[in-house]
Amino acid sequence: MNQLCRNGALWLIGGIALAAVPVLVDAQAAGNPSSGTEKNVQLLPGIDKQLIDSSVDPCVNFWKYACGNFSKLYPIPPDKSAYGSGTIVFDYTQQVLHNLLDSVAAPSAQQTPNEQKIGDFYASCLDEKAIDAAGLKPLQPELDRIAALSDKKQLTDLLAHYQMINVNAFFGYGEQQDFKDAQKQIAVVDQGGLGLPERDYYFRTGDAAEKTRKEYVDHIAKMLGLMGEPADKAAADAAKIMTLETALAKVSLDITSQRDPNKVYHPMTVAKLAELTPELDWPRFFADTGEPGIADLNVGNPDFFKGLQATLESTGLDTIKAYLRWQLINSVPSYALPKAMDDEDFDFFRQKLSGQPEQEARWKRCVDATDGAIGEAVGQVYVAQNFPASNKAFTLQMVHDIEDAMKQEIGAQTWMSAETKAKAEAKLHEVADKIGYPDHWRDYSTLKIVRGDAVGNAWAAADFENKRELSKIGKPVDRGEWGMSPATVDAYYNPLMNDINFPAGILQAPLYDPHAPDAANYGHIGAIVGHELTHGFDDEGSQFDGHGNLSDWWTPDDKKNFEAMTDCEVKEYGNFTVDGDVKVNGKLTLGENTADNGGLRLAYVAFIADAKRKGIDLDAKQDDGFTPVQEFFLAFGQNWCGDTRPEALRLQVQTNPHSPREFRDNGVVQNMQEFGKAFGCKLGQPMMPANACHVW
Ligand SMILES: [Zn+2]
Repeated sequence: MNQLCRNGALWLIGGIALAAVPVLVDAQAAGNPSSGTEKNVQLLPGIDKQLIDSSVDPCVNFWKYACGNFSKLYPIPPDKSAYGSGTIVFDYTQQVLHNLLDSVAAPSAQQTPNEQKIGDFYASCLDEKAIDAAGLKPLQPELDRIAALSDKKQLTDLLAHYQMINVNAFFGYGEQQDFKDAQKQIAVVDQGGLGLPERDYYFRTGDAAEKTRKEYVDHIAKMLGLMGEPADKAAADAAKIMTLETALAKVSLDITSQRDPNKVYHPMTVAKLAELTPELDWPRFFADTGEPGIADLNVGNPDFFKGLQATLESTGLDTIKAYLRWQLINSVPSYALPKAMDDEDFDFFRQKLSGQPEQEARWKRCVDATDGAIGEAVGQVYVAQNFPASNKAFTLQMVHDIEDAMKQEIGAQTWMSAETKAKAEAKLHEVADKIGYPDHWRDYSTLKIVRGDAVGNAWAAADFENKRELSKIGKPVDRGEWGMSPATVDAYYNPLMNDINFPAGILQAPLYDPHAPDAANYGHIGAIVGHELTHGFDDEGSQFDGHGNLSDWWTPDDKKNFEAMTDCEVKEYGNFTVDGDVKVNGKLTLGENTADNGGLRLAYVAFIADAKRKGIDLDAKQDDGFTPVQEFFLAFGQNWCGDTRPEALRLQVQTNPHSPREFRDNGVVQNMQEFGKAFGCKLGQPMMPANACHVW
């Protein structure tokens, strides 16, 4: 689907389909489905002195100073692969949603249609016994369709159907705004069809990578075995599936290249696409998905579709059928599978790939699944109960302050010509601010959710969402649309919409705490607002103009200066290592690092302006023993407290555009002399180097 849409997210995995791999702020607890045994999660205060390790010099390692006690107080629970300050907000929200869904899952005459849908979706997911008893019965019609394939020519209809129910077979299909004309909504097909997190997993050398590939093939064989294949046939099929996926991976772009809009933008006619992959009947494919009028589209990666043709030609129908069975079972949410398959899925994707020792509680998985499937129906109830108007008013004021700071920063740049500055200011002026939840709620009236049909409900929700996306093709852009559900603890910038989005879920303590000092709120949510706004001007966002069009609005000299400065950050972060030997990918994380750096600087400028307006003495020690400036940096530092299991850290560095949390603190403050001054650091100390980078 839309590659760039989510790349601006604060901590989610951007634009990459990770089959069953948790997002960073994953949070799931062990135990039985009842909430009675769970400890109540408490939100942290704006500045938490308990987290500080005062034996560490903040000038040597600020992250260790601000967060040194976090892991002692909040060790990673056995059912998580990471735990951090963001996870606490996530856990808290999940608890709130749990109560909400428990209450709507109890049938009552007063239920609204949306409450029926979310209540029944949730209750069906919780019903582990019924799911286990049904076994593979809900999948049987799909398995029969695969079994009935007698000719590759019949693949077109099946793959069209699979796109609608989110089976990741061979390639991806969806809708996007046209990069060169963001007013236009067009169809897109792109690479896909892999079961491992991304293409480099198929080729990386070394013991760890080879072990993962072997475990993956074993996992496929076990899943096929659980579907009824004899062990020797399952093992042989798994090996052939791995060969097929490796061929697809070979023609796939790596994740760093996918951040380059020009590398994923190839508008062409359907006739041209048919030349790349003649094995599939494309006009029929589009008609099957309810869009017979598609005549041209974006083909994200044309080499992939050429390679897909070769793969379809050279692979026997029996192997293709085995591959389809595998992708089908891998695409069904694992909570909806019989227990033995659910356990096996957990063992590979969560335990082996992310290091998570125990499965999460059922209710948590079901809360996440419901919010993920019909998030605006959940969100409508959530915000009515949990999002006071004062939160929206405060955030809007903060956003305006940060936008003013950005305007000042643009004006103050010495490396940028007046011409480019005027264009940057025009882009800034057009940024749309979206806070809390959408003005118009999504209409779910055509979505049918049936209590007791966990698989059917997941497919119905996927089909509804895919039809909704596809129906946008050829229509005017809805600028009020949201790409995250209101209860999401995250935020994003979308370069094609040129909008910054802060769901209600992230506007909670400690990120926004009405009882905390202003300094803390600027350091927490202010830096996050600044982060999203800076995405509009990072190495990727800066390629789009204020209307969301991919167009070069920079003078060549200004662009050269900009690239020299971003290069400083590529080198800075590229020198950070995790887990002994894994280097951070400075190019993959560049956009996020630029946003982190710009975000803190913008928040700082806005904070100082606000303090001056209010006549606050910035050097006066407060009751907590810190000056307001120190409070500001501490609050920022504590955004990134936490710990990650080594397996998950490797997975993150290899697949995720965000730097590990330690560097999201230290990588940023070491570029801000204001930090060094506030903590009395000397030039040359680790957090105050002479060669600091400064983009925004
Ligand atoms: Zn971001």
